[in-house]
Amino acid sequence: MSAPTSHLEIRSLTKRFGAVDALADVDLTIARGEFVCLLGPSGCGKTTLLRIIAGFEKADRGQLLLEGKDITELAPHQRGFGMVFQSLALFPHMTVAENIGYGMKLRGAGAAQRRRRVEELLEVVQLPAIADRPVAALSGGQRQRVAIARALAVPPQLFLLDEPLSALDAQLRDSMQIELRQLQQRFGVTTVVVTHDQTEAMMLADRLVVMKQGRLQQCDTPTEVYRRPANAFVAEFLGAANLLPGVVQADGAVNVLGAHVGASSRLAAGSAVTLAVRAEDVRLQAVGSASAPHVVGDIEFVRDLGPLAELIVRCGDERLRCRSADAPLREARVGQKIAVHFDAQRCSVFPAAHA
Ligand code: ATP
Repeated sequence: MSAPTSHLEIRSLTKRFGAVDALADVDLTIARGEFVCLLGPSGCGKTTLLRIIAGFEKADRGQLLLEGKDITELAPHQRGFGMVFQSLALFPHMTVAENIGYGMKLRGAGAAQRRRRVEELLEVVQLPAIADRPVAALSGGQRQRVAIARALAVPPQLFLLDEPLSALDAQLRDSMQIELRQLQQRFGVTTVVVTHDQTEAMMLADRLVVMKQGRLQQCDTPTEVYRRPANAFVAEFLGAANLLPGVVQADGAVNVLGAHVGASSRLAAGSAVTLAVRAEDVRLQAVGSASAPHVVGDIEFVRDLGPLAELIVRCGDERLRCRSADAPLREARVGQKIAVHFDAQRCSVFPAAHA
């Protein structure tokens, strides 16, 4: 298989707002047809990066190359990108069809061709039969979907979306995530989406770009980022991992919670580490029947969530979040003792300084 061709290359982008490093030396190469999600907590620089790619914001330093051509200084409308940004409102005095067909009209497409394309796109965003409504009569969620249709009406060089599904209710959001992903694959358009929702990012992206304070932390497939987080921040941000202080023993076992409970490391004996273990990778067993090395904790909280039970177990100073599909745990009571063990394959161990 030949390597995917680079479509957008971001080189050393740096942007400061006063004392804040919104972006610090960001390098990123996006392949043709790739779906990339920029993910991170509020203020990490996601929107700034997207706005610089779009041309709405100017970087202090760095370069943007599209198919090898320098576009750093081009105005937004010269870039040929399809955009769904909160700030790019629909034209309020036009109908849905006029909004979606606007770009096609500018390029000289006839009325019948525009109408066909509008109907097709409205079908895709699950809004058939609203072409002739004024946009003023639409809900926030409907407007977002019309904005997606408008951005795709003329196949864009790059499709840029800032929190595109934020105004939708949970059910519609779920189905639109699948639609958006299928739409992107059908059009084969290189896409960059900003979201702070990790489930949404994992649902959509070929590659996640996790950011913290203007710096890229990890760029990889959702599975890789989830299974092999680059540092404790990524582990905690993606999947609500428990972070525990520990020490590596002579045999490589990691002692946390004052005992060896299943995790190991290749770091030198005596190293102070942070162990990340996700709630679903904490194994809970009745005290007495636990075979593997374990510690005993006290159940502080139990909730039956349907497919899973959510528990909080106190072990010394630490409170562990645990999630389990085991039926007996749904019946567990607050105050009960429980044995805690970790699946060594599912733990990530980082030098403590990186925490
Ligand atoms: P959110 O998820 O809350 O939208 P974000 O990850 O998109 O956050 P940015 O909006 O890119 O983050 O902001 C990055 C940092 O730059 C933040 O600290 C923000 O306060 C700051 N910042 C962004 N735009 C400006 C501006 N126009 N003036 C001053 N500071 C700004």
